[in-house]
Amino acid sequence: MESIVLFGPPGAGKGTQAQRIMDSTGLPQVSTGDMLRAAVAAGTTTGIEAKKFMDAGKLVPDEVIIALICDRIQDPDATNGVMFDGFPRTIPQAEALSKITEVSHVIAIDVPDERIVERICGRYTCGNCSSVYHDTFNPTTKDGFCDNCDSTEFKRRADDNADTVLSRLSAYHEQTSPLAKWYIERGIFHQIDGDRAIDEITTDILSALK
Ligand code: AMP
Repeated sequence: MESIVLFGPPGAGKGTQAQRIMDSTGLPQVSTGDMLRAAVAAGTTTGIEAKKFMDAGKLVPDEVIIALICDRIQDPDATNGVMFDGFPRTIPQAEALSKITEVSHVIAIDVPDERIVERICGRYTCGNCSSVYHDTFNPTTKDGFCDNCDSTEFKRRADDNADTVLSRLSAYHEQTSPLAKWYIERGIFHQIDGDRAIDEITTDILSALK
């Protein structure tokens, strides 16, 4: 099985692009952030442990994340590979991943720090189908209705606020960006300019995946 990794800072547009890549490749999206938020909402031991790190904008410990992923890739829909979104975020996570699945492409969506805060602070998702929107840059076409499923329920993430964004950005620069070199050395790293229209970014990603 061959998998794809979506790599980039918080707010780079990984979730938005993941939905489009999923439509075109059929690979299921595996977002460790979504899995952790589900664990927090369900009040599991993992959720309770993870919440303190997430609220502070820090990375959840590697062993918690690696255990989640090892479980998830046993699911039947993962047999032909998956699209990882927000994982791996550290070298130990990448090493663990290399032992359990082959990664064919790392798609790095590049957005400058100064654009990240405005992107994160205005974003919201559909409470039914998780489509991602932004107050200014990507609003719903019909006010109050999800473009994809017509739901009127929307959510904003607890950690999408200006204070936490700065910690999340430093975690990205200190712990995650060193992974770029790790994947460049393996010849599978594709850098995409993420500071453009959503459709242009999708086109570039899909051609990198060919
Ligand atoms: P995300 O939805 O990917 O922005 O993740 C939200 C939060 O979940 C992050 O700020 C981290 O606290 C935690 N998290 C998600 N994925 C990981 C990961 N691969 N490693 C460590 N922490 C993670």
